[in-house]
Amino acid sequence: PRAAKHVEGQRIRVCVRKRPLTRAECRRGEADVVYAPSGECVVVCESKEAVDLTEYILQHRFYFDQVLGEGSSNEEVYQKTAYPLVQHMLSGGKATCFAYGQTGAGKTHTMLGSSSSGTGLYALAVQDIFAHLSTINTALLVYVSFFEIYCGQLYDLLEHRKRLFAREDGNKVVHISGLREVRVDSVSSLLEVISKGTAERTQGMSGVNPLSSRSHALLQIQIRDLNQQIAGRMWFVDLAGSERASDAKDPNKQSRMEGAEINQSLLALKECIRSLDKEESHTPFRQSKLTQVLKDSFVGDSMTCMIANISPGHSATEHTLNTLRYADRVKEL
Ligand code: ADP
Ligand code: MG
Repeated sequence: PRAAKHVEGQRIRVCVRKRPLTRAECRRGEADVVYAPSGECVVVCESKEAVDLTEYILQHRFYFDQVLGEGSSNEEVYQKTAYPLVQHMLSGGKATCFAYGQTGAGKTHTMLGSSSSGTGLYALAVQDIFAHLSTINTALLVYVSFFEIYCGQLYDLLEHRKRLFAREDGNKVVHISGLREVRVDSVSSLLEVISKGTAERTQGMSGVNPLSSRSHALLQIQIRDLNQQIAGRMWFVDLAGSERASDAKDPNKQSRMEGAEINQSLLALKECIRSLDKEESHTPFRQSKLTQVLKDSFVGDSMTCMIANISPGHSATEHTLNTLRYADRVKEL
């Protein structure tokens, strides 16, 4: 196993966050099979049976830029993941922060937070942004937009799920026509907009799986000067449940379609992030709607952070390993 590279101002950071066992999991007698022996290493213990039926534990060890254990608060996760990106954005750059992982592994908890655990990365970033703007002399404006990608289609979360269309202009810049952008002038008004959008997200519940596990939610915060020139922008992306990618073989037609789409977009995402660190001129943006709308995040001086969220329980072992392998591939040079 090789150690993760640690570079000052690195453009791609890949971090892992393990959540604690939930109360329901404890009640079921779920065992915690994940541990983090250091801040950069995570180990998954898988129990196996040998040919002679004796049991043994197989240990899978992975290294990342940062591993955050179940004791980490959203505040600590923010400091070690999104914070450097927010600083980059505030100095005029572009940054993108992804929450990846199985449904229930803690993506939304990380991004949005919860009433019991306090605020998530969205709010912590927003606080830093407004704190910074209050210290400078230039007048800058803050805009927010929030939409969802489901089955390759875009829906505006700030406009009652209005259907949106992304297109590339002659200069190869991707525009989302009709996307609602709301100008906000305080932390509280921005958080209010986010909470409205989040409420829209959970509306489309249907059947077995909540829609939120099958769609990507993209929040964009832009800073512009009085001439509407962009002076910094940042995306927060709460990705669809990674386990849905294997629904591509589901007998149900709708699940199969959704699964295929999610699979395609997560594969394209991995390739696009990887190409950030290389001199590749050919980044496969067009392979999915997700990477197409995020095109700007994979070129130029963009910074990216992926937070791979994992569940600790033994029954999630396979999904946990899949998540860690995916994250490992993202950072591999
Ligand atoms: P996802 O968005 O990946 O599907 P959630 O964020 O909804 O997962 O998390 C699933 C459950 O686990 C929620 O009840 C959430 O409150 C809880 N949870 C997730 N991460 C943590 C954490 N770090 N600490 C405490 N509870 C957590
Ligand atoms: Mg979620």
